[in-house]
Amino acid sequence: MSQNTCEQCAGPALTIGELNERSKSLGMFVQPDGTVIAPASHRSEAHALENLKGFRCAKCGGVYCMGCILSSAPSHANGGKACFACRGHYQLLPG
Ligand SMILES: [Zn+2]
Ligand SMILES: [Zn+2]
Repeated sequence: MSQNTCEQCAGPALTIGELNERSKSLGMFVQPDGTVIAPASHRSEAHALENLKGFRCAKCGGVYCMGCILSSAPSHANGGKACFACRGHYQLLPG
């Protein structure tokens, strides 16, 4: 299993497939867009898992995790979050 690393925090940046594998063992379910569905009792685990979701910049190829993007990525001029390095758009990690 190939694992991508967030260039901001050096933590894991998971693909949807990898998120799925992790969530299954915790009794949770991942939607195709990476949203983690979990019972109320697992809300915090689901949130922690979502923060590991990986994104790749469409422009420079930089890889980042959801947690870093949500907490400190710059805003994009067209809305949403922009790449730390080049202000490009993010896309979900393939796989
Ligand atoms: Zn990160
Ligand atoms: Zn970029």
